Amino acid sequence: MSQVHDLLRRVFGFTCFRGLQEQVVDHVVSGGDALVLMPTGGGKSLCYQIPAMARPGTGLVVSPLIALMQDQVGALQRMGVAASCLNSAQDGEESRRTCRALCRGELDLLYVSPERAVMSGFLDMLESCRLSLIAIDEAHCVSQWGHDFRPEYLQLAELHRRFPDVPRIALTATADEPTRADILQRLELFQARKFISGFDRPNIQYLIQPKQEVRRQFLEFYRSHHPGEAGIVYCQTRARVDRAAGWLREEGLEALPYHAGMTSDERQRNQERFLHEEGVVMVATVAFGMGIDKPNVRFVAHLDMPKSVEAYYQETGRAGRDGLPATAWMAYGLADVMGLLQLMSRSQAPPERRALERRKLDAMLGFCETAGCRRQVLLRYFGEELPERCGNCDTCLHPVAIVEGTIAAQMALSCIKRTGERYGVGYLVDVLLGRANPRIQRAGHDRLPTFGVGRESSAREWSSVFRQLAAAGLVEVDMEGYGGLRLTPASWDVLKGRRSFPLRQDPVAARQRSRSKALPVRVPAVESDLFEALRRKRLELARQERIPPYVIFHDNTLLAMVQSRPATLEEMAEVPGVGEVKLARYGQIFLEVLRSA
Ligand code: ADP
Ligand code: ZN
Repeated sequence: MSQVHDLLRRVFGFTCFRGLQEQVVDHVVSGGDALVLMPTGGGKSLCYQIPAMARPGTGLVVSPLIALMQDQVGALQRMGVAASCLNSAQDGEESRRTCRALCRGELDLLYVSPERAVMSGFLDMLESCRLSLIAIDEAHCVSQWGHDFRPEYLQLAELHRRFPDVPRIALTATADEPTRADILQRLELFQARKFISGFDRPNIQYLIQPKQEVRRQFLEFYRSHHPGEAGIVYCQTRARVDRAAGWLREEGLEALPYHAGMTSDERQRNQERFLHEEGVVMVATVAFGMGIDKPNVRFVAHLDMPKSVEAYYQETGRAGRDGLPATAWMAYGLADVMGLLQLMSRSQAPPERRALERRKLDAMLGFCETAGCRRQVLLRYFGEELPERCGNCDTCLHPVAIVEGTIAAQMALSCIKRTGERYGVGYLVDVLLGRANPRIQRAGHDRLPTFGVGRESSAREWSSVFRQLAAAGLVEVDMEGYGGLRLTPASWDVLKGRRSFPLRQDPVAARQRSRSKALPVRVPAVESDLFEALRRKRLELARQERIPPYVIFHDNTLLAMVQSRPATLEEMAEVPGVGEVKLARYGQIFLEVLRSA
């Protein structure tokens, strides 16, 4: 058996490489540079961990988040890998010990922050060490176009100038072409071979619905799909995060807030609980999540629409890293679009950047409004064709009805026109429904011919019409003024009957009633007790050792134990995810749980 296969089996307990891993490992082991693009959960870490161990010297890993570095290193140490980290959160003695081990050549892997990686004292110290490779994790942080831009990453090319012969590997899950080109440029990775795997995350189910009563909608989803399981709930603003965490707690969820307005202590504490306990729901702004490698996040829910398809993909990608079924759930509405447009109108970015953001937002709304397969639309956005409908998204599970909507569109557009292109959706819907509120009376809009023409439909249906008109570019939101709706040149094609308007029927009532077939980690009832018993044991051990439970074994390793029922240590060694060191440390303990069941 080759050395890398031996490491894979002995240290990590896996029998074979996945996807492009083997090619990347071979290339880097033989000294080549690489850019690795794999979706979250694709198994990027092995791509540098195994070469670092296989090659002589220490692998230097640049990783952006100190909090997570510690967990990654802890997980490696538990597998018997000589890994360590240097960061500003450590005390002097700890750092000195790590430096000594590094200089003696005792480390396989050293994790550092980008700030540390470019300090001159640190670089000088590296001169006297042997480096096996340099890995740059979350490499999109180097790009201005990425969403997690970190200025320190810009200096990382310095590492290469100091150590030109050491192979480098940059890794990211961010897909788009400008970011990719930017990474290669800024890291001066001119000779790097590119390893790009597909972006599909087949284990993630996509469920998207228009926002009505978002609290009820979310709770129905949570209780029917993932009760008691860990997840992330994203909101657009800090205030909404605090409110959502509040009502979720009232509903009995273990919900914690996370946003940039909290002290770093509070954030740290909540993150820690999310990682170390089971079933915590993190309610957060987008500030939360970069590099979160908790494998058993069972759902990611968006209570507000994200600002782009890239952001949506990145955020939902945090669900189901372990490959087990997970859900990406979202409720969206035109108010979300307004909120995002308002943020954009306040930004100081140059006009072309703002135009780009605007286009990205339009694409996101279009994704929400599609009647096609979500996964096909999502992947097409990243240049990938999925030949058939996926069967695992809301529009595949419950096909959407398309009805003729031209007359409704004409009513809505003429209502905008006749009220002077100044009003928001709420006002316009009231006019259409013939609700003569004082504002409407003062403006004299209760005397318009459009007043009350829409009484046949409900307020909800009219909101949907306006949303879909916006998604189709048939109305635009005036962000320089007060967010009123305006006509666009294309609107006139509909108004004059030159263009028809198919309307997607929001199948809300129907969808809420039916339960999805693809359920999360579900094992047959007889076996679920055993799975729970293994999980309890894992949590007990994790508490004793003060580590996240998944550092001991991942959920899929426990599920594999339930399925194969090992009775001896030899059989236990065959379970995926049980390497030599973990076998020695935990094998007997888990065998006993299996035996007593
Ligand atoms: P990424 O960093 O790309 O998001 P990770 O490196 O965290 O992904 O790996 C995701 C999950 O897949 C982890 O649970 C990891 O243990 C598992 N994994 C990685 N490679 C393999 C493999 N060859 N066989 C089985 N499981 C693997
Ligand atoms: Zn689908």
